Amino acid sequence: MPTATDSSSTATILVVDDLPANLELVAGSLEQHGYHVVVAQAGDEALERAQLVRPALILLDVMMPGINGFETCRRLKALDDLRDIPVVFMSARAEVGDKLAGFSTGAVDYVTKPVDSAELLARVETHLAMATMRRQLAAQNHLLQREIASREQAQAALQRSNAELEQLAYAASHDMQEPLRMIASYLQLIERRYADRLDADGHEFIGFAVDGAKRMQALINDMLAYSRVGTKGRAPAPVDSTELMRVVREQLRLAIEEAGAVIELGALPQVRGDAAQLAQLLQNLLSNALKFRGSAPPRIRVECNTVPGGWCFSVRDNGIGIAPEYAERIFVMFQRLHSRKAYPGTGIGLALCKRIVERHGGRIWVEPADGGGSVFKFTLARDGQAA
Ligand code: ADP
Repeated sequence: MPTATDSSSTATILVVDDLPANLELVAGSLEQHGYHVVVAQAGDEALERAQLVRPALILLDVMMPGINGFETCRRLKALDDLRDIPVVFMSARAEVGDKLAGFSTGAVDYVTKPVDSAELLARVETHLAMATMRRQLAAQNHLLQREIASREQAQAALQRSNAELEQLAYAASHDMQEPLRMIASYLQLIERRYADRLDADGHEFIGFAVDGAKRMQALINDMLAYSRVGTKGRAPAPVDSTELMRVVREQLRLAIEEAGAVIELGALPQVRGDAAQLAQLLQNLLSNALKFRGSAPPRIRVECNTVPGGWCFSVRDNGIGIAPEYAERIFVMFQRLHSRKAYPGTGIGLALCKRIVERHGGRIWVEPADGGGSVFKFTLARDGQAA
């Protein structure tokens, strides 16, 4: 049986008219063009036939005894399984004024009687093609909705497992601190208490072990700081970035003095964010600028501009610089461009910065500074959070 999905000339069309002569005319020309035609002579009969054969299109006379065409159409459109079948009214010229009333019942078109068979065929073809396209669109839409739903599910699962992993990393790092402290302090105790019984190798080996424990402590501290960004973050609040810089300079006072560094500040605004995290961000950038200094005393400049949607901070140094091919890599966890001997560090600092910036709805990158050195830039969203 042809179904409502046919748009070709094998489609089934229900023709409804109380006058047999009209039926014959319309049905005849449709059949001549290969359509399968079912007829009805009254509104209620049309509804029954439509249920039975599920036509791809209905041609419906307006003026009929019993329930007229408009009412028939209204009833059709009230039925879930029939409402998508396009209805085309057939009305005499005198009834053209009723056209709007016809459309308001849910019809897609009308043809004027006496029906011109070429026009009728053209309209039938158009509406069948449109109905097919509507169905295809609906099917695609349905698929899309399903895809969106399954992506949302996957994303929620991913977020859950990320949060779990983060908790795990946090707990593991946290719990490792204590035994590590113990290892380091007992090694130091052995070194002190048994100093006279240890030969040069013994002292050296203990020195290596203490050094390893200290490095591991630094790693654990950085990993804890990294996982805290997600788990222990505070809601965005107003933050005075001049005050932040005062705190950061205080924290780095020794390193600044030791390096003989000059730090210049531009006008810094009040922003929104998590003050502790923003301080950590600036502190990491500044301590890198101090650490990766060249032969000249460090000169570091911190500035901020407003940009659409928020602010853009920059931290410029005159240090050793970063080759452009490493500009992305340095923000990845544990990625370092130098040996531990040349510059100590864990390779977590910039990954932590990236995480903090992203949590504040911004991005971070590095550019070469004019005359050598690097400029680290980061943006913050005006509302201090990721969209
Ligand atoms: P760490 O400082 O512990 O090595 P980071 O994640 O902070 O780790 O930095 C990653 C790498 O990026 C550093 O090892 C260094 O090679 C490079 N880097 C970071 N900041 C600077 C800077 N201001 N100047 C030159 N190189 C830098």
